[in-house]
Amino acid sequence: MRAREELKQAICESVDRRRGEIEQIGDRIMENPELGFKEFKTAKLVADTMTTFKVPHETGLAITGVRGVIKGNKPGPTVALMGELDSLLVADHPKADSETGAAHACGHNAQIAGLMGAMMGLVDTDAIDDLCGSIVIFAVPAEEYVEVEYRLSLLRDGELSFLGGKPELIQKGHLDDVDLAAMIHTHRDPELKKAAVIESCNGCIVKLIRYQGLAAHAGSSPHKGINALNAANIALAAINAQRETFKDSDSIRVHPIITRGGDLVNVVPADVRLETFVRGKTNDAIMDANFKVDRALRAGAMAIGAKVEINTLPGYMPLQDDRNLQKLFLHNAELLFGAAECTETGHRTGSTDMGDISHIMPSVHPSMAGATGISHGSNFMIADKEMAYLAPAKALALLAVDLLYDDAATARNIVSQHTPLMSKDEYLAYQNRIFQKEIYDGETGHSRKSAV
Ligand SMILES: [Zn+2]
Ligand SMILES: [Zn+2]
Repeated sequence: MRAREELKQAICESVDRRRGEIEQIGDRIMENPELGFKEFKTAKLVADTMTTFKVPHETGLAITGVRGVIKGNKPGPTVALMGELDSLLVADHPKADSETGAAHACGHNAQIAGLMGAMMGLVDTDAIDDLCGSIVIFAVPAEEYVEVEYRLSLLRDGELSFLGGKPELIQKGHLDDVDLAAMIHTHRDPELKKAAVIESCNGCIVKLIRYQGLAAHAGSSPHKGINALNAANIALAAINAQRETFKDSDSIRVHPIITRGGDLVNVVPADVRLETFVRGKTNDAIMDANFKVDRALRAGAMAIGAKVEINTLPGYMPLQDDRNLQKLFLHNAELLFGAAECTETGHRTGSTDMGDISHIMPSVHPSMAGATGISHGSNFMIADKEMAYLAPAKALALLAVDLLYDDAATARNIVSQHTPLMSKDEYLAYQNRIFQKEIYDGETGHSRKSAV
């Protein structure tokens, strides 16, 4: 049996030796971006790489997820290392898919490169022989919560139970045997240095809204119509008027878009659709803001006499990393880069479905450098492949080694000290309770609530 540091050194050398293959994976995914639950090419690349490295795996989990297992000979905890398969839709990104407009403007291609690199390092060195327990290599779908209408249609067809990748994987039981989970996101923020752990992230719920008016000739008889766009505009103004009531400490973000604003310019708009997130630091703060948003949405319908259908959908839970896992990640990041290049940051106002995992098991979602540009913007690029692809590969693999070395003492210790915020059943019940469809008639003031 190798000494721990000897094993870690061997893994880092293997990742460096595999540099060409790891970079090729990251670059190929950058060139082939796919939106969530549609990541078929990316999933195949992951599955093929697992086949090459003789890692047994399952595919098609929550539509596109790929789960490989490096099974230990000695029983112990299971650590899941994760990477996200999906891209965003940023049509003017230079690497955007010309047909779909999909683009990797959040660096998830680097996550998969890092995940595959970690797998290569662990397999090349037969690391599992010196460890207790198992390592799951999990490429997960649909972290970006987008194309809400499309995903809702999958839900209504019974193909999904939730609209995000990790909630769906939890629901389907693909994390039931996992005890701890880790993934690393890529960042472009110099303040976060080369590696950062994050105190917490906003959670969110998601809303799909449809104003229904009455079409009429926009020039000769607008008085016979009911203008759904005007109703939506009043609702948006009413939402903006709530903002002074949001407490700074709750980090509320409400950012609606109009996805359909009318059909023909000479017809009074009768079908106008919005999507919005309601984000916040705690579940209570999110629900309070959501209550106000609903009130504002009804106000638009009431002012114009339109109907509004408000679909409220579970989004992601606020992220709460396990403190011991954060310390362990920082320990290895400091070995790789030195303490001056590592930092701890406060609350972040974006959301991730790693928050959902963090509610049911000890997990960690740090961030590592290597990108430039604006996150989710058309100039977001991987600028430093060693940092974005290779360093996370090492950090993930070293974390797994530290957790499972020495009869998995560290993993067992972290699990025993960790009190989950929710059990899996409590989590699923909480998220399922959020699903709601309300139809409010602004003419009569009548409201009807039902399942989505
Ligand atoms: Zn993103
Ligand atoms: Zn992301």
